[in-house]
Amino acid sequence: MELGYVLVIRRTNKNSVKVVNKITLICHHGGPRDKRLVGPPKRSNKIDCPFTLEGRPGRDGGWRVTVKDLRHNHDPTADLHGNAYARQMTEEEKEYVGNQSDHGLYLRQILVNLKHEFPGNLTQRGDITNFLKSKRRSCQAGRTPMQVMFSLLQDKNYFYQFTTNSKNGQLENLFFMHPTSMTLWRAFP
Ligand SMILES: [Zn+2]
Repeated sequence: MELGYVLVIRRTNKNSVKVVNKITLICHHGGPRDKRLVGPPKRSNKIDCPFTLEGRPGRDGGWRVTVKDLRHNHDPTADLHGNAYARQMTEEEKEYVGNQSDHGLYLRQILVNLKHEFPGNLTQRGDITNFLKSKRRSCQAGRTPMQVMFSLLQDKNYFYQFTTNSKNGQLENLFFMHPTSMTLWRAFP
């Protein structure tokens, strides 16, 4: 990445007990070039780049990396901006973007702040849109386990009551009951 090349895992070999014993890393331009002579060219960035690293587990528990081929058949940063791998946000960057969005900032401003906060960041507008979309989709996004639990109780129409500590606001007692049990409980107290 720092050199401007993006590596992808081509394959992992697993032995009989399903332990990964070999990882092959290739350039994202590795793999056969589209050689079709008819029809529109496939949208692919594979151009037979020979770069290959091989990783095998070492005795110390780490991985031993062997260089199989260090050659690239293209310029390093040529299309880094267009590359989804390279544009992936780190966990830290995601958290930052999430916070900015929670504070009601607009997409354009979030992008400006992100670039300022994380120099060298390659994230584009669309990446942030996608990230925020999937963050909203994911049920737990940005909420504490307690908030998730309460919304689950609400969604499933559970009856619930709770008390909180008057000093620190923490939950002290939680009582909840399934709607069916609630009906029965009311009928036969
Ligand atoms: Zn390459």
